[in-house]
Order: sequence, then C-alpha cells, then structure tokens
Amino acid sequence: MRGITDRTMVLEALEKVGEEVVLQGWVATKRDHGKLTFIDLRDRTGSVQCVGFQMMGELTTESVIEIKGLVKARPERMINKEQATGAIEIEVKEYTVLNKAKELPIPVEGDGKEISEEVRLKYRYLDLRRPRMNTALRTRSAFIQALREYLFAEDFVEVETPMLTKSTKEGARDFIVPSRFQEGKFYALPQSPQQYKQLLMTAGVERYFQVARCIRDEDLRADRGFEFTQLDLEMSFAKQEDIMNTVEAMVKHAVKKVGGTLKDETFPVFTYEEAIKQHGADKFDLRTEEEKEAGVLSFAWVVKFPFFKKVDKEDIAEVRDGKSGWTFTHNPFSAPLPEHLEQHLAQENIGEILTSQYDLVCNGYEAGGGSVRAHNPEVLRTTFKIMGYSDQEITDSVGHMLEAFEVGTPPHGGIALGLDRLAMILANETSLKEAIAFPMTSSGRTAVMDAPSPVSEEQLADLHISVVKKKMRK
Ligand code: ASP
Repeated sequence: MRGITDRTMVLEALEKVGEEVVLQGWVATKRDHGKLTFIDLRDRTGSVQCVGFQMMGELTTESVIEIKGLVKARPERMINKEQATGAIEIEVKEYTVLNKAKELPIPVEGDGKEISEEVRLKYRYLDLRRPRMNTALRTRSAFIQALREYLFAEDFVEVETPMLTKSTKEGARDFIVPSRFQEGKFYALPQSPQQYKQLLMTAGVERYFQVARCIRDEDLRADRGFEFTQLDLEMSFAKQEDIMNTVEAMVKHAVKKVGGTLKDETFPVFTYEEAIKQHGADKFDLRTEEEKEAGVLSFAWVVKFPFFKKVDKEDIAEVRDGKSGWTFTHNPFSAPLPEHLEQHLAQENIGEILTSQYDLVCNGYEAGGGSVRAHNPEVLRTTFKIMGYSDQEITDSVGHMLEAFEVGTPPHGGIALGLDRLAMILANETSLKEAIAFPMTSSGRTAVMDAPSPVSEEQLADLHISVVKKKMRK
C-alpha cells in the first residue's frame, strides 16, 4: 500500500514480524497491568495490541498517537483468534501523543443505537468511528464506484448540472436562494437535474449520468431529510425496455461488487394495477422471512402508472402544480404510453391515461424511478394544459424545454436511483440516516453544525430581505 512515508498500516504489520515499525492511529482500548500497559491501536485497516513497559499509562482512549515498536509473533497460546492481527503484538519502544482525547461525550464502541439521535448527530465525527458506521460509509463508496465503473464501460459521460437554478417540478416545494445582484429575485435549489439532463440529450451527449444532490423542501418525517443523493441517468434513442435493461444490469453489477445477494437474476415486472391488487401498494417486499434474515435484496419493476391524479388540497406543491384539479403522479416530463398518446393529446379521460413511468422497488422501498420523456413539444405542452396552465404559464415554466424540443432533440428517457436508500439496504440498516455521513436531525437541523441559524442584519440587507417575525400569540 503506497501512503505516508514511514507509516505502516496495522494490517501490514502482520507481515513484518521482527521488524521495527511506525504505527499511527487511535487508542481503541487501554488496560493497565502495573508496569505493563496494553493498548489496542486502531487505524483504518484494523487494530493491534501494543505493549508498553513502564510507559503509556497517561494515554486516554481515543487519543491519536504514533508508536515506534517491534513487531513480535505472539506465542501460540496467546493468539487472539477474534482479531485479524491476533497473531502479533507490538512492543512499544517510544510513542508520541499527536492529539490527546479528553473524556468523550458519547461512546464509540457498540452500535450506538441506545444514544439519542440529537446527540449522535451533534457528535457525528465520533459516531462515525464505530465500525457499524464506518462499514456503512465504505459500502456506500464501493457501491457508487461500481455503478460508475459500469456506466463508464457503457459509454456514459458524467456531467455536473447547476445547483443554483430554477424550479424543477418534482412535486415538492423548492428551497429558494435570494439573489444579491438582482433585488427581489431568487434561485431555486434543484429538486433533481431532470430538465438539465434532458437538455444534455438535446446537446448530443446521448448517455449522461451524475451522482446528483437533490434538495426538496418536504414536510419532515422521521426518515426523510431535505437533501438526498440520486444516481441520475439519461439515454437518447433508447426505448423503455432498453433503459430498464441497462439499469437492471448496472444495479446487478454494483450489488454483486459489494457482496450483496439478489433474490432474482431477472427483476420481476408488475403493472401498477397488479401491484395494488397483489400487494396493496406500489412498493412491496417479495422476500421470504429467511431471505430477510439473510439480507437478500429483492428488486422488482412497477410499470404502467396513471399519468395524472386529483390534486391533494392539503399539499401546497400539488395545488400549485395542478391548477385544473389534476396534477402529475410522478414526472410531468414523461411521455404517455404510446397507446394513450391520442387520448393525451385530445385531453380526454384524463384519469385513464397511463405514463411510461417505471419504478424500481427493493425490499419494500422505492429505490428509483424514471420514464421515457415527451420529446415532442406538443405532448409536453398538453401535459401542462391538462394541469390547467395557460399558454403564458406554460411558456414561463417550461418554455425553454419546448424551445429545445424544436431544434433536434432525440427521443430519450432515464431514471434516478435513490442512493441513500440503496446504501442503507446494502448496509443492512433500516434508517436512511445510517447510510449518510452527516444527515439532518428529524427536526431539520444539520448534524454537528447548528443550522438553520439566524444571519446578521448586514447579510439580510445585502440580499434585500427583511424577516417578518410571527407575532407571539398572547
Ligand atoms: N427526476 C426524477 C426524480 O427525481 C427521476 C427521473 O425521472 O429521471 O424522481
């Protein structure tokens, strides 16, 4: 392993019996036996027992230290089979404290589940030291690497799209950012790269992907934050089955790469109607109890969703999007299924129009969703007419897309997979927060740093903003 000059990693020490090494890491445990002090030194590769004679008594656990010592084979009867490095120990010659740890506010051993969420997230940098969390982060990283590997091999191009943008209509409220230069004007943070990725198809990229951050101002629920990460992709000249096949092959490759077990080599496909009839919902778990215990992953597709639904009057984003009382179920940029195109263009039997949307379900969760897009301007225009938009409102909100659809936009479609959720499932966790390094608390506060927080009067003045405080009710 190439790395830091002179530093030996704990696992490498196994191969260096009889040699003097320099180890750097954390004091995982410490036991004093009179003149002898034993510590377990931990680095990213594991931990190893180090023995100091008349020294190290002052060390506190979780301090960062450097040790110079001799690697010794342990006598047969002393071998610790529980530890990868159980066959050796380090006889410490000298050591340096690089950063002394005082008493920790939370323990870093154990699974941490007994600690309150607020406290775990306030000290997330400690919480992440526990092996369970560390493994979850590493699995997530390896999974994303495997996805990239597959996509690059299939000729996809990774492209970043703007974070300061305009409302993207994913059916949630926007987070808005005031403009300092243009008084009274605002950017929106992207709910997804949907429109930009489609414009990349107009641009001739043909195969795009991005590990994309998406931000939606949704009502908080226990297991949902404002931001999440998607593996977002889009393909030109591809039919629905081409896209589904590509995604299925990619997911299989990446799941296997991180050691996951699949229930089905070919993901079963359900229509929305079948899913509702058989499972009472459009996400469902096909695993047996034994498969659940074994951590098997069960993927399935759901297709043939209704394109439109009646607006839920309690939902501000739906009321905003569905001016006619109809709004889209998944994505307004989708194409209706070919057999419903005529009906769509005629704006007839709205409730019966089916969309080309396909959702990927895994172990009872929605793991992703996408569709073949409307690349004909008339089809997209009609979708917005059905939702009650006037010509002017259509131009204002998607005029740029309609324009792009008149200068040579190939047929295209894509998908976005929820990476937080997949990482959670792969790590065998049941909360999204366990698969995200710095998630928000359930009440919408950031981990470690205390946001949202007030800003200074000067900052507000720069942004042409004044905060109107709600009057306290007497
Ligand atoms: N933009 C969609 C979403 O975020 C996914 C897609 O249709 O590609 O749910």
